[in-house]
Amino acid sequence: MTIAIIAHDGRKADMVGFIKDHIDLFQRRNIRLIATGTTGEHLERAGLQVEKMRSGPMGGDAQIASRLVEGQVDMVIFFRDPLGKHPHEVDVSMLMRLCDVYNIPLATNMAAAGRFVETL
Ligand code: PGA
Repeated sequence: MTIAIIAHDGRKADMVGFIKDHIDLFQRRNIRLIATGTTGEHLERAGLQVEKMRSGPMGGDAQIASRLVEGQVDMVIFFRDPLGKHPHEVDVSMLMRLCDVYNIPLATNMAAAGRFVETL
C-alpha cells in the first residue's frame, strides 16, 4: 500500500509530527510513502524513508496525480493550509478531483488523517 503525503508550508511541522507518530504502524503494515519534494525533504530530515517527487509548485502534485491515475496510490493525506495562497492551486484541484474520479481516500486535515490511519 502506498500513501501520498503533501503538506503546504504552513502545515509541514504538523505533518512531520503526524507521520512520526504513525511511522511504526506504517512499517508494520508495509506502507510506502511518497511525497511532494519539500514535504519529502522534511520527512527525510526527520529520519523517515520516502520517495520524493518534484516540489509542489514545480509539478509534484501533478506527479502524484499521475501515479494515482496509474493505480499506484491508495490514500492521499494532504495537510492543506486554508489560509495561504498557493501558485499551483490548479494542480491541487486536479489532484483532489482525480481522488474523487478514482475513489481514492483523501484527507485534507489532521483530524481526517487521524481517522484514516485508524483504518489501516
Ligand atoms: P512541497 O509541495 O512539498 O514541495 O512544498 C507541497 C504542495 O504541493 O503545496
